[in-house]
Amino acid sequence: MDYEHLTRLFTDNGAYKAELVRQSDIVLSTEFRDICAGNGCGNFGKCWMCPPDVGEIGPMMEQLRRYPLGILYQTIGQLEDSFDIEGMGAAGDAHAQVSQRIQRAVKPLLGEHMLHLTCGGCHLCPVCAKRDDQPCRHPDLALPSLESYGVDVYQTSRATSLRYINGANTVTYFGMVLYSEDEHA
Ligand code: SF4
Repeated sequence: MDYEHLTRLFTDNGAYKAELVRQSDIVLSTEFRDICAGNGCGNFGKCWMCPPDVGEIGPMMEQLRRYPLGILYQTIGQLEDSFDIEGMGAAGDAHAQVSQRIQRAVKPLLGEHMLHLTCGGCHLCPVCAKRDDQPCRHPDLALPSLESYGVDVYQTSRATSLRYINGANTVTYFGMVLYSEDEHA
């Protein structure tokens, strides 16, 4: 797999930056399950793609560790100010759309042997069906959050040129596609 061709697909489909990470650079911690349970974002127990409904963190971390490579990517949204909650939500929606475009671009190349994680809260529906105790409306499209798999995005991004914070009045969201080159050699 031509790494430069692969990362170009990410930026061509809306990512601000995308870069290869090796499995050894991906920092995981079970602490993220406790952080999610603190419900600072309001999605804990309210979104099928977030904890606790997304699954147990231990087996999910084991699943992630099976992929030797990943492409970490980011989008940067503009805010009116640091209290612009509406702007943060809109930037999350925009990031989720970029993730869907990336998914459509890379899946034909990577097949089923990939794991695509993105920002929390899914953002595909205006209100997640979980809030009404209904099944997920788009189970083939919905993508779980990086944090639900225990990914420490800040520490992982330090192995790349992707900056975790990108200036005043911006919000940065991340995603990562994990894959195995062997499946596609
Ligand atoms: S696709 Fe809709 S129903 Fe399914 S997890 Fe995402 S927001 Fe919830």
